[in-house]
Amino acid sequence: METARDLYIDGLKNAHAMERQAQEMLERQSERLTDYPDLRRRVVEHLEETKQQLARLERCLSAVDSSPSTIKDVALSFGANMAALSHAMANDEVLKNTFASNALEAYEIAAYKSLLTLAKQAGIQAVGLDQSLQEEERMAKWMDEHTPSITMEFLRLFEKEAA
Ligand code: MG
Ligand code: FE
Repeated sequence: METARDLYIDGLKNAHAMERQAQEMLERQSERLTDYPDLRRRVVEHLEETKQQLARLERCLSAVDSSPSTIKDVALSFGANMAALSHAMANDEVLKNTFASNALEAYEIAAYKSLLTLAKQAGIQAVGLDQSLQEEERMAKWMDEHTPSITMEFLRLFEKEAA
């Protein structure tokens, strides 16, 4: 029978793989968003937050005594699941990346809420994960609020190119 503690440890490993994927996505975006300075600034900021989130998950994992090799294995298998988030070839890349970012932030929020619930049930201190959750909620809000303006900027650049 899986206890809350076991599920919490699995959840930490999955969240670590999720954040690795988020890091890769944000790194790729930050290199390509030269035409979208506001979005780029926010992506770079969230990339730094993501690195801290990875470190927090690693600290939570070592607090429950899990080996780093296990983290790596899960991260590699997770990559395939998120492959659909790569839109590097499309000319509407920025729009698809924006939809993907909205989806990823919602996924991350759910993952951290679940982890915090399991930690509470297991009587374990999930140090820093409440802060990670708040960072995801801020990023989700930003992406949600800026989806219209990113679309308008895309349209402006598209029209300029077509002219
Ligand atoms: Mg994150
Ligand atoms: Fe995030």
